[in-house]
Amino acid sequence: MKLYPECFDIKERREKHSASKEFGMSNDGYLLPCCWADGESWKRPENGHGHKCDYVHALHDEELKIENNESIEEILLSDQWINFYQALERGYKEDISYAPKLCQYYCGKKNATKSTT
Ligand code: SF4
Repeated sequence: MKLYPECFDIKERREKHSASKEFGMSNDGYLLPCCWADGESWKRPENGHGHKCDYVHALHDEELKIENNESIEEILLSDQWINFYQALERGYKEDISYAPKLCQYYCGKKNATKSTT
C-alpha cells in the first residue's frame, strides 16, 4: 500500500480534471482537511463507531472551532493541525503506516506507482 493524497497538488489535479480534495467545514463548525474527515466515526470514535483516527479526533478539539479563532491561519498553525500534516507528509514520503488512519483508508492504494513529479 502507498499513499496518494488527493488533497496534494490541487492545481495539477484540476488541470488534469482528476479527483481532488480541498478543505472543508463541518456542520458543527470545524475546519476539515477534506470532506472525508466529516464522518461521525472519524470525529468521535468514543461514540462506538468503527473508525478511529487520533489525528482527526484532535482536529475537533473545542479550541479549534472556527468561531473560537480569529483566522483560518490560526487554526492551521495549531499543534493539532501541524501534527496531522506532519503525519500525512511522512506517510507520503516514507511509509503509509505513518499517515493518519483517515488518509490510509481513503487515499491508500495498492499496486499504484507513485509519481515523482
Ligand atoms: S483522506 Fe487525508 S490524504 Fe486523503 S484527501 Fe483527505 S486529508 Fe488528504
